[in-house]
Amino acid sequence: MTVSIFTHPDCLRHDPGSDHPETPARLGALLERAGTSGAVKVLETAPAKRESLLAVHTEPYLETLESMSGRGGGVLFLDTILNGASWNAVLGATGAVLAAVDHAHAGRGHAFAAIRPPGHHALAGKGMGFCLVNNVVVGARHAQRAGRARILIIDWDVHHGNGTQALMETDPSLRYVSLHQHPWYPGTGMADERGVGNVFNVPRGPGLAASLYVDDLWAAVVASTSGWSPDMIFVSAGFDAMAGDPLGGFTLEPEHYADLTRRLRERFPKTPIVGLLEGGYAPARVADGALAHIAALV
Ligand SMILES: [Zn+2]
Repeated sequence: MTVSIFTHPDCLRHDPGSDHPETPARLGALLERAGTSGAVKVLETAPAKRESLLAVHTEPYLETLESMSGRGGGVLFLDTILNGASWNAVLGATGAVLAAVDHAHAGRGHAFAAIRPPGHHALAGKGMGFCLVNNVVVGARHAQRAGRARILIIDWDVHHGNGTQALMETDPSLRYVSLHQHPWYPGTGMADERGVGNVFNVPRGPGLAASLYVDDLWAAVVASTSGWSPDMIFVSAGFDAMAGDPLGGFTLEPEHYADLTRRLRERFPKTPIVGLLEGGYAPARVADGALAHIAALV
């Protein structure tokens, strides 16, 4: 058995600068490791069409991204920076997410989108936190158009996905569970931010035992799905909650991502899972963590 992972070569061409932590080497390390794993099949997909992004983002914002990238790049917002390849990277990344959703929806197995730039900080009309387009919500809306009405998004990136939460917190068809460091960037994600009862935030301090993070995230997953069963599960899979990440203070190891993935499969044996890469800033560690998650999807 193999698990399919979807990517697009333009995801490696987006580059916010040589001293920027969101480096192409993050995805490069992941793809290199995946290429040597017998359990993984890497598939290159077609780029998304702009219309798929309009389900989530405003037209003027998308025009800003396309035109800034077309001019060779620039600073979109603080440390969120485009180069000449960024717009094509956005379309390539979202194309990979849509292909992963189609694959999982068709019953061909769980899937993973190996993409960058990341997405969970992106708002409808604003990029931030290295994120340009909210890949996971674009994927969730695509799944809903295919008939998967109820969507669960689990976000284990060390940062709170403020963009994801903002895009779904008034829509009870989506539920969002996020484990993240607090206080930390971007400052949102308190436990009392509940949306319409569909947001389950798990803010925790740094340096705690990994088992505590895992168990507390799992308790929130269970709470979010008591009496409510998802038709598709997305994992906003950042790997900056791993010990040693330069942008986080959590302590997770690859085995914890494998454990969480196995727990998901046991609790939801009939529900397809689509993982997609968010953050993670030590490239070799991103590869280790992602491959542990992906191998547990087989
Ligand atoms: Zn992050």
